Amino acid sequence: MRLTVLGTGYLGATHAACMAELGHEVLGVDVDAAKLAKLQAGEVPFYEPGLEEIVQRNLSAGRLRFTSSYQEAADFADVHFLAVGTPQKRGEYAADLTHVDSVIDSLAPLISKPTVIFGKSTVPVGTAERLGALVRERSPARVHVEVAWNPEFLREGYAVRDTLMPDRIVIGVGSATSDRVERAAREVYASQLAEDCPFMVTDLATAELVKVSANAFLATKISFINAIAEVCEAAGADVRLLAEAIGYDDRIGKKFLKAGIGFGGGCLPKDIRAFMARAGELGADEALTFLREVDNINVRRRTKTVEIVRQMCGSILGTRVAVLGAAFKPDSDDVRDSPALNIAGQLQLQGAAVAVYDPKAIENSKRIFPTLDYQASIDDACRNADVVLVLTEWEEFTTVDPGHLMDVVRTPRIIDGRNCLDQQRWMDVGWTYRGLGISIGE
Ligand code: NAD
Repeated sequence: MRLTVLGTGYLGATHAACMAELGHEVLGVDVDAAKLAKLQAGEVPFYEPGLEEIVQRNLSAGRLRFTSSYQEAADFADVHFLAVGTPQKRGEYAADLTHVDSVIDSLAPLISKPTVIFGKSTVPVGTAERLGALVRERSPARVHVEVAWNPEFLREGYAVRDTLMPDRIVIGVGSATSDRVERAAREVYASQLAEDCPFMVTDLATAELVKVSANAFLATKISFINAIAEVCEAAGADVRLLAEAIGYDDRIGKKFLKAGIGFGGGCLPKDIRAFMARAGELGADEALTFLREVDNINVRRRTKTVEIVRQMCGSILGTRVAVLGAAFKPDSDDVRDSPALNIAGQLQLQGAAVAVYDPKAIENSKRIFPTLDYQASIDDACRNADVVLVLTEWEEFTTVDPGHLMDVVRTPRIIDGRNCLDQQRWMDVGWTYRGLGISIGE
């Protein structure tokens, strides 16, 4: 099957490469010439385990190409996947849909055959219907173009696996949509369907809401355990044991119940805010007021972590802080709304000397936070530190030898922002350990 992917960022490049891996002929389209040049040369412009091999294999096989030309895209395929960014609007909660609209503006006038556009970006409910009308307005008369929504659930760090073996495939279709749309979706995802992947066809609004509801639920689960962590801190309890105990109940489950510095990245924070904004526009704002609290609890974890540094070191001014981790999660170089960088930045603003190390995210961090002191290794970041903060759960940090690091730092104080370290192992060799939601070890 021939298809295009419009927007080749984290989502689009992964989708394009994985669809080619499944045997489709794929054209990736972007407006960023530097990104396209890298991808066409077999280089993935971000870190995602396993993706580069797939890009290279499919470029060589001639199943994958990249271009900036919408004319080429319109001529190449009659099935398009829209995968551009939908960031938070500056100074507002709502999503910025200018990239989504500009894809339609660029593509629609060039379409000359019956076409299906599957939206994959995360958008406010109602967007697909609006884009459908926009496409009809912009595309040549008598050419049948249909807009459907196919929300994406991949997780950075597992993006290849999640695309090749998704938990479910959801296709939202309009009331006047033809059978052709479902047939196209079944053909694109034939390999996944052969593996019994659940396949749901819904109306457009439901498909759009499935995605933001899933993210709102995940954000709520994290903020729930972080709120309980605050109570554990006050009561002298241990949130790790509490989470394990409640997680044995399979109605609750253990996943996403890890207390720490909270969520970040290019999805959860902006998605829950856009969800609240959209609910407000629809007159349903009361329904989602709890998400404001979810957001507040999450942001509070960052200031709490700064407070722990102050408590442990007596003051922040003049303290040498080593921050291990900048990416918002391990196995990713994504630093969008990263709690780790936010904490590093707060500490620097309050007068600490902050050295940061991350295995993959330093280049991206330098772009958005150039004033931090970036180092090339754990040892370099920790040299003469008064306190070490582990803020991203990279395996390199969870397996580091605390005995060796004792000789590198000035004072052996460790703050485990992800509750990912073996506390006993660190305390046994003389570190003062602080986790989040754990009052022991102070
Ligand atoms: P991204 O910023 O990494 O990628 C967006 C890409 O779109 C960029 O390469 C940009 O140059 C390109 N672009 C912008 N305008 C364009 C245009 N007019 N034509 C062609 N390309 C254009 O963003 P992302 O993380 O890939 O997210 C994309 C969408 O997918 C968002 O709505 C996001 O919420 C959603 N999503 C992301 C993930 C994830 O893990 N990153 C997971 C599920 C859903």
